[in-house]
Amino acid sequence: MRSALDTNAKVGALLRDLAAVQTSQQSKWGYKRAAAAILDLDEPLESLLQSDGSLRKIPHVGPSSLRVVHEVLQTGRSETVDRAVGGSTKAGEVARSRELRDNFLSSAQVAEVLRFEKRRGVQLKHYRGDLQMHSEYSDGRVSLEQIVEGCLARGYAYCAVTDHSYGLPIAHGVSMSNLEKQHAEIDALNRRYQARFHMLKGIEANILADGTLDMTAAELRTVDVVLAAPHSKLRVVHDQTARMLAAVSLPGVNILAHPRGRKFGTRPGISADWDQVFERAATLGVAVEIDGDPSRQDLDFELAQRALQAGCLFALDSDAHSIEELRYADTAMAHARLAGIPPARIVNCWALNKLRDWLGEAWRR
Ligand SMILES: [Zn+2]
Repeated sequence: MRSALDTNAKVGALLRDLAAVQTSQQSKWGYKRAAAAILDLDEPLESLLQSDGSLRKIPHVGPSSLRVVHEVLQTGRSETVDRAVGGSTKAGEVARSRELRDNFLSSAQVAEVLRFEKRRGVQLKHYRGDLQMHSEYSDGRVSLEQIVEGCLARGYAYCAVTDHSYGLPIAHGVSMSNLEKQHAEIDALNRRYQARFHMLKGIEANILADGTLDMTAAELRTVDVVLAAPHSKLRVVHDQTARMLAAVSLPGVNILAHPRGRKFGTRPGISADWDQVFERAATLGVAVEIDGDPSRQDLDFELAQRALQAGCLFALDSDAHSIEELRYADTAMAHARLAGIPPARIVNCWALNKLRDWLGEAWRR
């Protein structure tokens, strides 16, 4: 389904393997940093090859990481990594973490997918606003005004600020009294920006183990956009279909955010009968999210395609915690394009009025 082999993702993953088998903290850190640098490159490694066979310099990538790059470019695999992993006591651990890197795209691959105009499905020009981001009211690092300016710079017409709910103290969840302050601030910003931009009031509510949320219905009614997202029991293997079905069935829920809760190379997230969850979400008109944070990429293009077949709506969001991270929406967009999702099925591509109507419907089911 992918347009080309994602060499950067492959090398990034191999360097993470190499990091995992290091005994010194310093070399562990060095390989991890090199992996991150390569995953974040905006060009494929192939294009950094110079005519004499050497590579153009990549910041944070040292000589021993470069050797792995050369091996992969020449042979498609890395003998250095194979040997290091094979000779270590951590081969089993490495094999398990490899499974946790499936369907993650490198930044270069994201750029390549978005550049390829002929592919059917959504394009950047269709995208009107981002519906998951965090401000200084919870664990984000930016003010609401900075968010408006950052979104305008990306050409958006609207966004939703979705700070964590008070039930998630680890992410500095916003108290109801601070949420009230935030809403007053949003009202003032919307008056100031008028038709140029509209900020929606959102919340990222936490899905508890039984599938209910950590906020009451009355509290949820104070916002325009309710994201329901799992942040616990993301490493357990037992089936959690019932939990996810319960969450999408709650009145007021608009978007099932980062549905699996997976993390690159470290955490599998929830196992569930996703087709059943998607079917329920489609019936109820709840959108499923493609979270574009590079370490999440959740749903990925493969699951997103199954959700598309089930008839789901989608939200493509950055999950940004800074202005710089607003570009993570591109990663979500790339997965959507790989899954072939048309703009009509993506709520971020709708005009604000249509979006608002749909948001309100969540209370009428
Ligand atoms: Zn979250």
